[in-house]
Amino acid sequence: MTRKGLLIILSSPSGAGKSTLAKRLMAWDPTLKFSVSATTRAPRAGEQDGHDYFFRDRAAFEAMVAAGDMLEHAEVFGNLYGTPKSPVEAAMHEGRDTLFDIDWQGGQQIRNSSLGKDVVSIFILPPSIADLESRLRGRGQDTEEIIAGRMAKSQSEISHWAEYDYVLVNEDLDTAEDELKTILRAERMRRDRQPGLTDFIRNLNKEFDAR
Ligand code: ADP
Ligand code: 5GP
Repeated sequence: MTRKGLLIILSSPSGAGKSTLAKRLMAWDPTLKFSVSATTRAPRAGEQDGHDYFFRDRAAFEAMVAAGDMLEHAEVFGNLYGTPKSPVEAAMHEGRDTLFDIDWQGGQQIRNSSLGKDVVSIFILPPSIADLESRLRGRGQDTEEIIAGRMAKSQSEISHWAEYDYVLVNEDLDTAEDELKTILRAERMRRDRQPGLTDFIRNLNKEFDAR
């Protein structure tokens, strides 16, 4: 009997390091499944359709929503972002944990859905706002206008920190990665996530009885 997969939600203000940490977790545990979101934003240099995002125009995105194919969706920085439902359901049935890089609105929708009890949510903070800005700039992917827009939204994103199960400060990447692994290891060991436990205890009791 396999356990049901977990839904591991990572949120943070843009530039705090979610994608970097998600990639490290995926490299550490190849059984993790990354939830590839759909978005109407334009691809950044190096981003591949179907790998980083499903890049769609507004009409195609809205058709997915209308068909009920999205687990959650939200407007972020003027673009639509959403999580396709079927890969998540498939992973849960296979007992694979899914990693989400989504904003607080998406986190809230999934937490409040019927899948809420399988969610582990983690909020990632930057060590300082100055660091956040220099990371956004250092990424070298966005125009000054986009960076300014993201910085302007970061305070309201951070205001949702208390809705998350865990909060970590991504100052040193290796430390933050270790903290994420610790969370994952512990969450996987929760009593209600070990489906073979009742049988195991029954067998221990049989051993007692046979003494
Ligand atoms: P997000 O996905 O949250 O928008 P990214 O993972 O793209 O953020 O990170 C933004 C930039 O900051 C990237 O250039 C990344 O390499 C860098 N970065 C991430 N974590 C750290 C860290 N702990 N220390 C220094 N730079 C970091
Ligand atoms: P970016 O454009 O930097 O890739 O992402 C911008 C923001 O959108 C980030 O906060 C990211 O977590 C969020 N985001 C990405 N995919 C989704 C999604 O499927 N749903 C929601 N609600 N937010 C998403």
